[in-house]
Amino acid sequence: MSAYLRLAGVNKTFGSFTALGHIDLEVEKGEFVTFLGPSGSGKTTTLMVIAGFEQATKGEITVADQSLAHLAPQERNIGIVFQNYALFPHKTAAENVYFPLQMRKVGKKEGMKKAEEMLELVGLAGFAHRLPKELSGGQQQRVALARALVFEPDLLLLDEPLGALDKNLREQMQIEIKRIQKRLGVTTIFVTHDQTEAMSMSDRIVVFSNGAIEQAAAPLDIYHRPATRFVADFIGESN
Ligand code: ADP
Repeated sequence: MSAYLRLAGVNKTFGSFTALGHIDLEVEKGEFVTFLGPSGSGKTTTLMVIAGFEQATKGEITVADQSLAHLAPQERNIGIVFQNYALFPHKTAAENVYFPLQMRKVGKKEGMKKAEEMLELVGLAGFAHRLPKELSGGQQQRVALARALVFEPDLLLLDEPLGALDKNLREQMQIEIKRIQKRLGVTTIFVTHDQTEAMSMSDRIVVFSNGAIEQAAAPLDIYHRPATRFVADFIGESN
């Protein structure tokens, strides 16, 4: 069976600096993959070239065997959640969630109905008419998640989405994200530098180091490999 998302020989340079050396990665449909690695190791850059916000310098990226080259970000059908949520402050929760549908020419009545259904799925029934400033950090995070999912994306990319939340909320959102991802079956890439989070959430962990993939394996396989100095380092870091 062929992979759903495939990166083949993806390289990204910024001037003379090589941010990504040669990334080969295959992700199955419905899989939840976590990119784990220290700051500067290339996790976000990899997401950005998948999303189309950065162009790969070399290599190919395909989804369902279709090349993403020459597709602008809005043409890629990819949902993204950033650490800072990036909600429109003057739009209500429902209007924020409706926005990507509006961009896809879905009419307001149908689009707002879908937006409200998605808000319900993320646990925000009754909050549709609130502005972002009237919501807590965790609730804003849920709105951002609903906005990324409402147009049934081929891929969901989550770039350190829990980084701004306190420990309790973080754990709650880990469970929520997994519940919603399973329910929708959406192929997901989750970026974190928190090893515990990666261990508890992922079907597979892809460990980045210096712009390269150091290893990719199921959480328990990574954990049990005694030679994994890198992961051992993280145990200290995540506490
Ligand atoms: P991570 O997400 O793992 O923290 P990044 O992918 O953000 O790492 O960054 C990888 C490397 O690429 C870093 O050294 C970073 O400084 C560099 N980098 C990322 N974006 C740019 C850019 N637009 N211009 C120059 N260097 C960049």
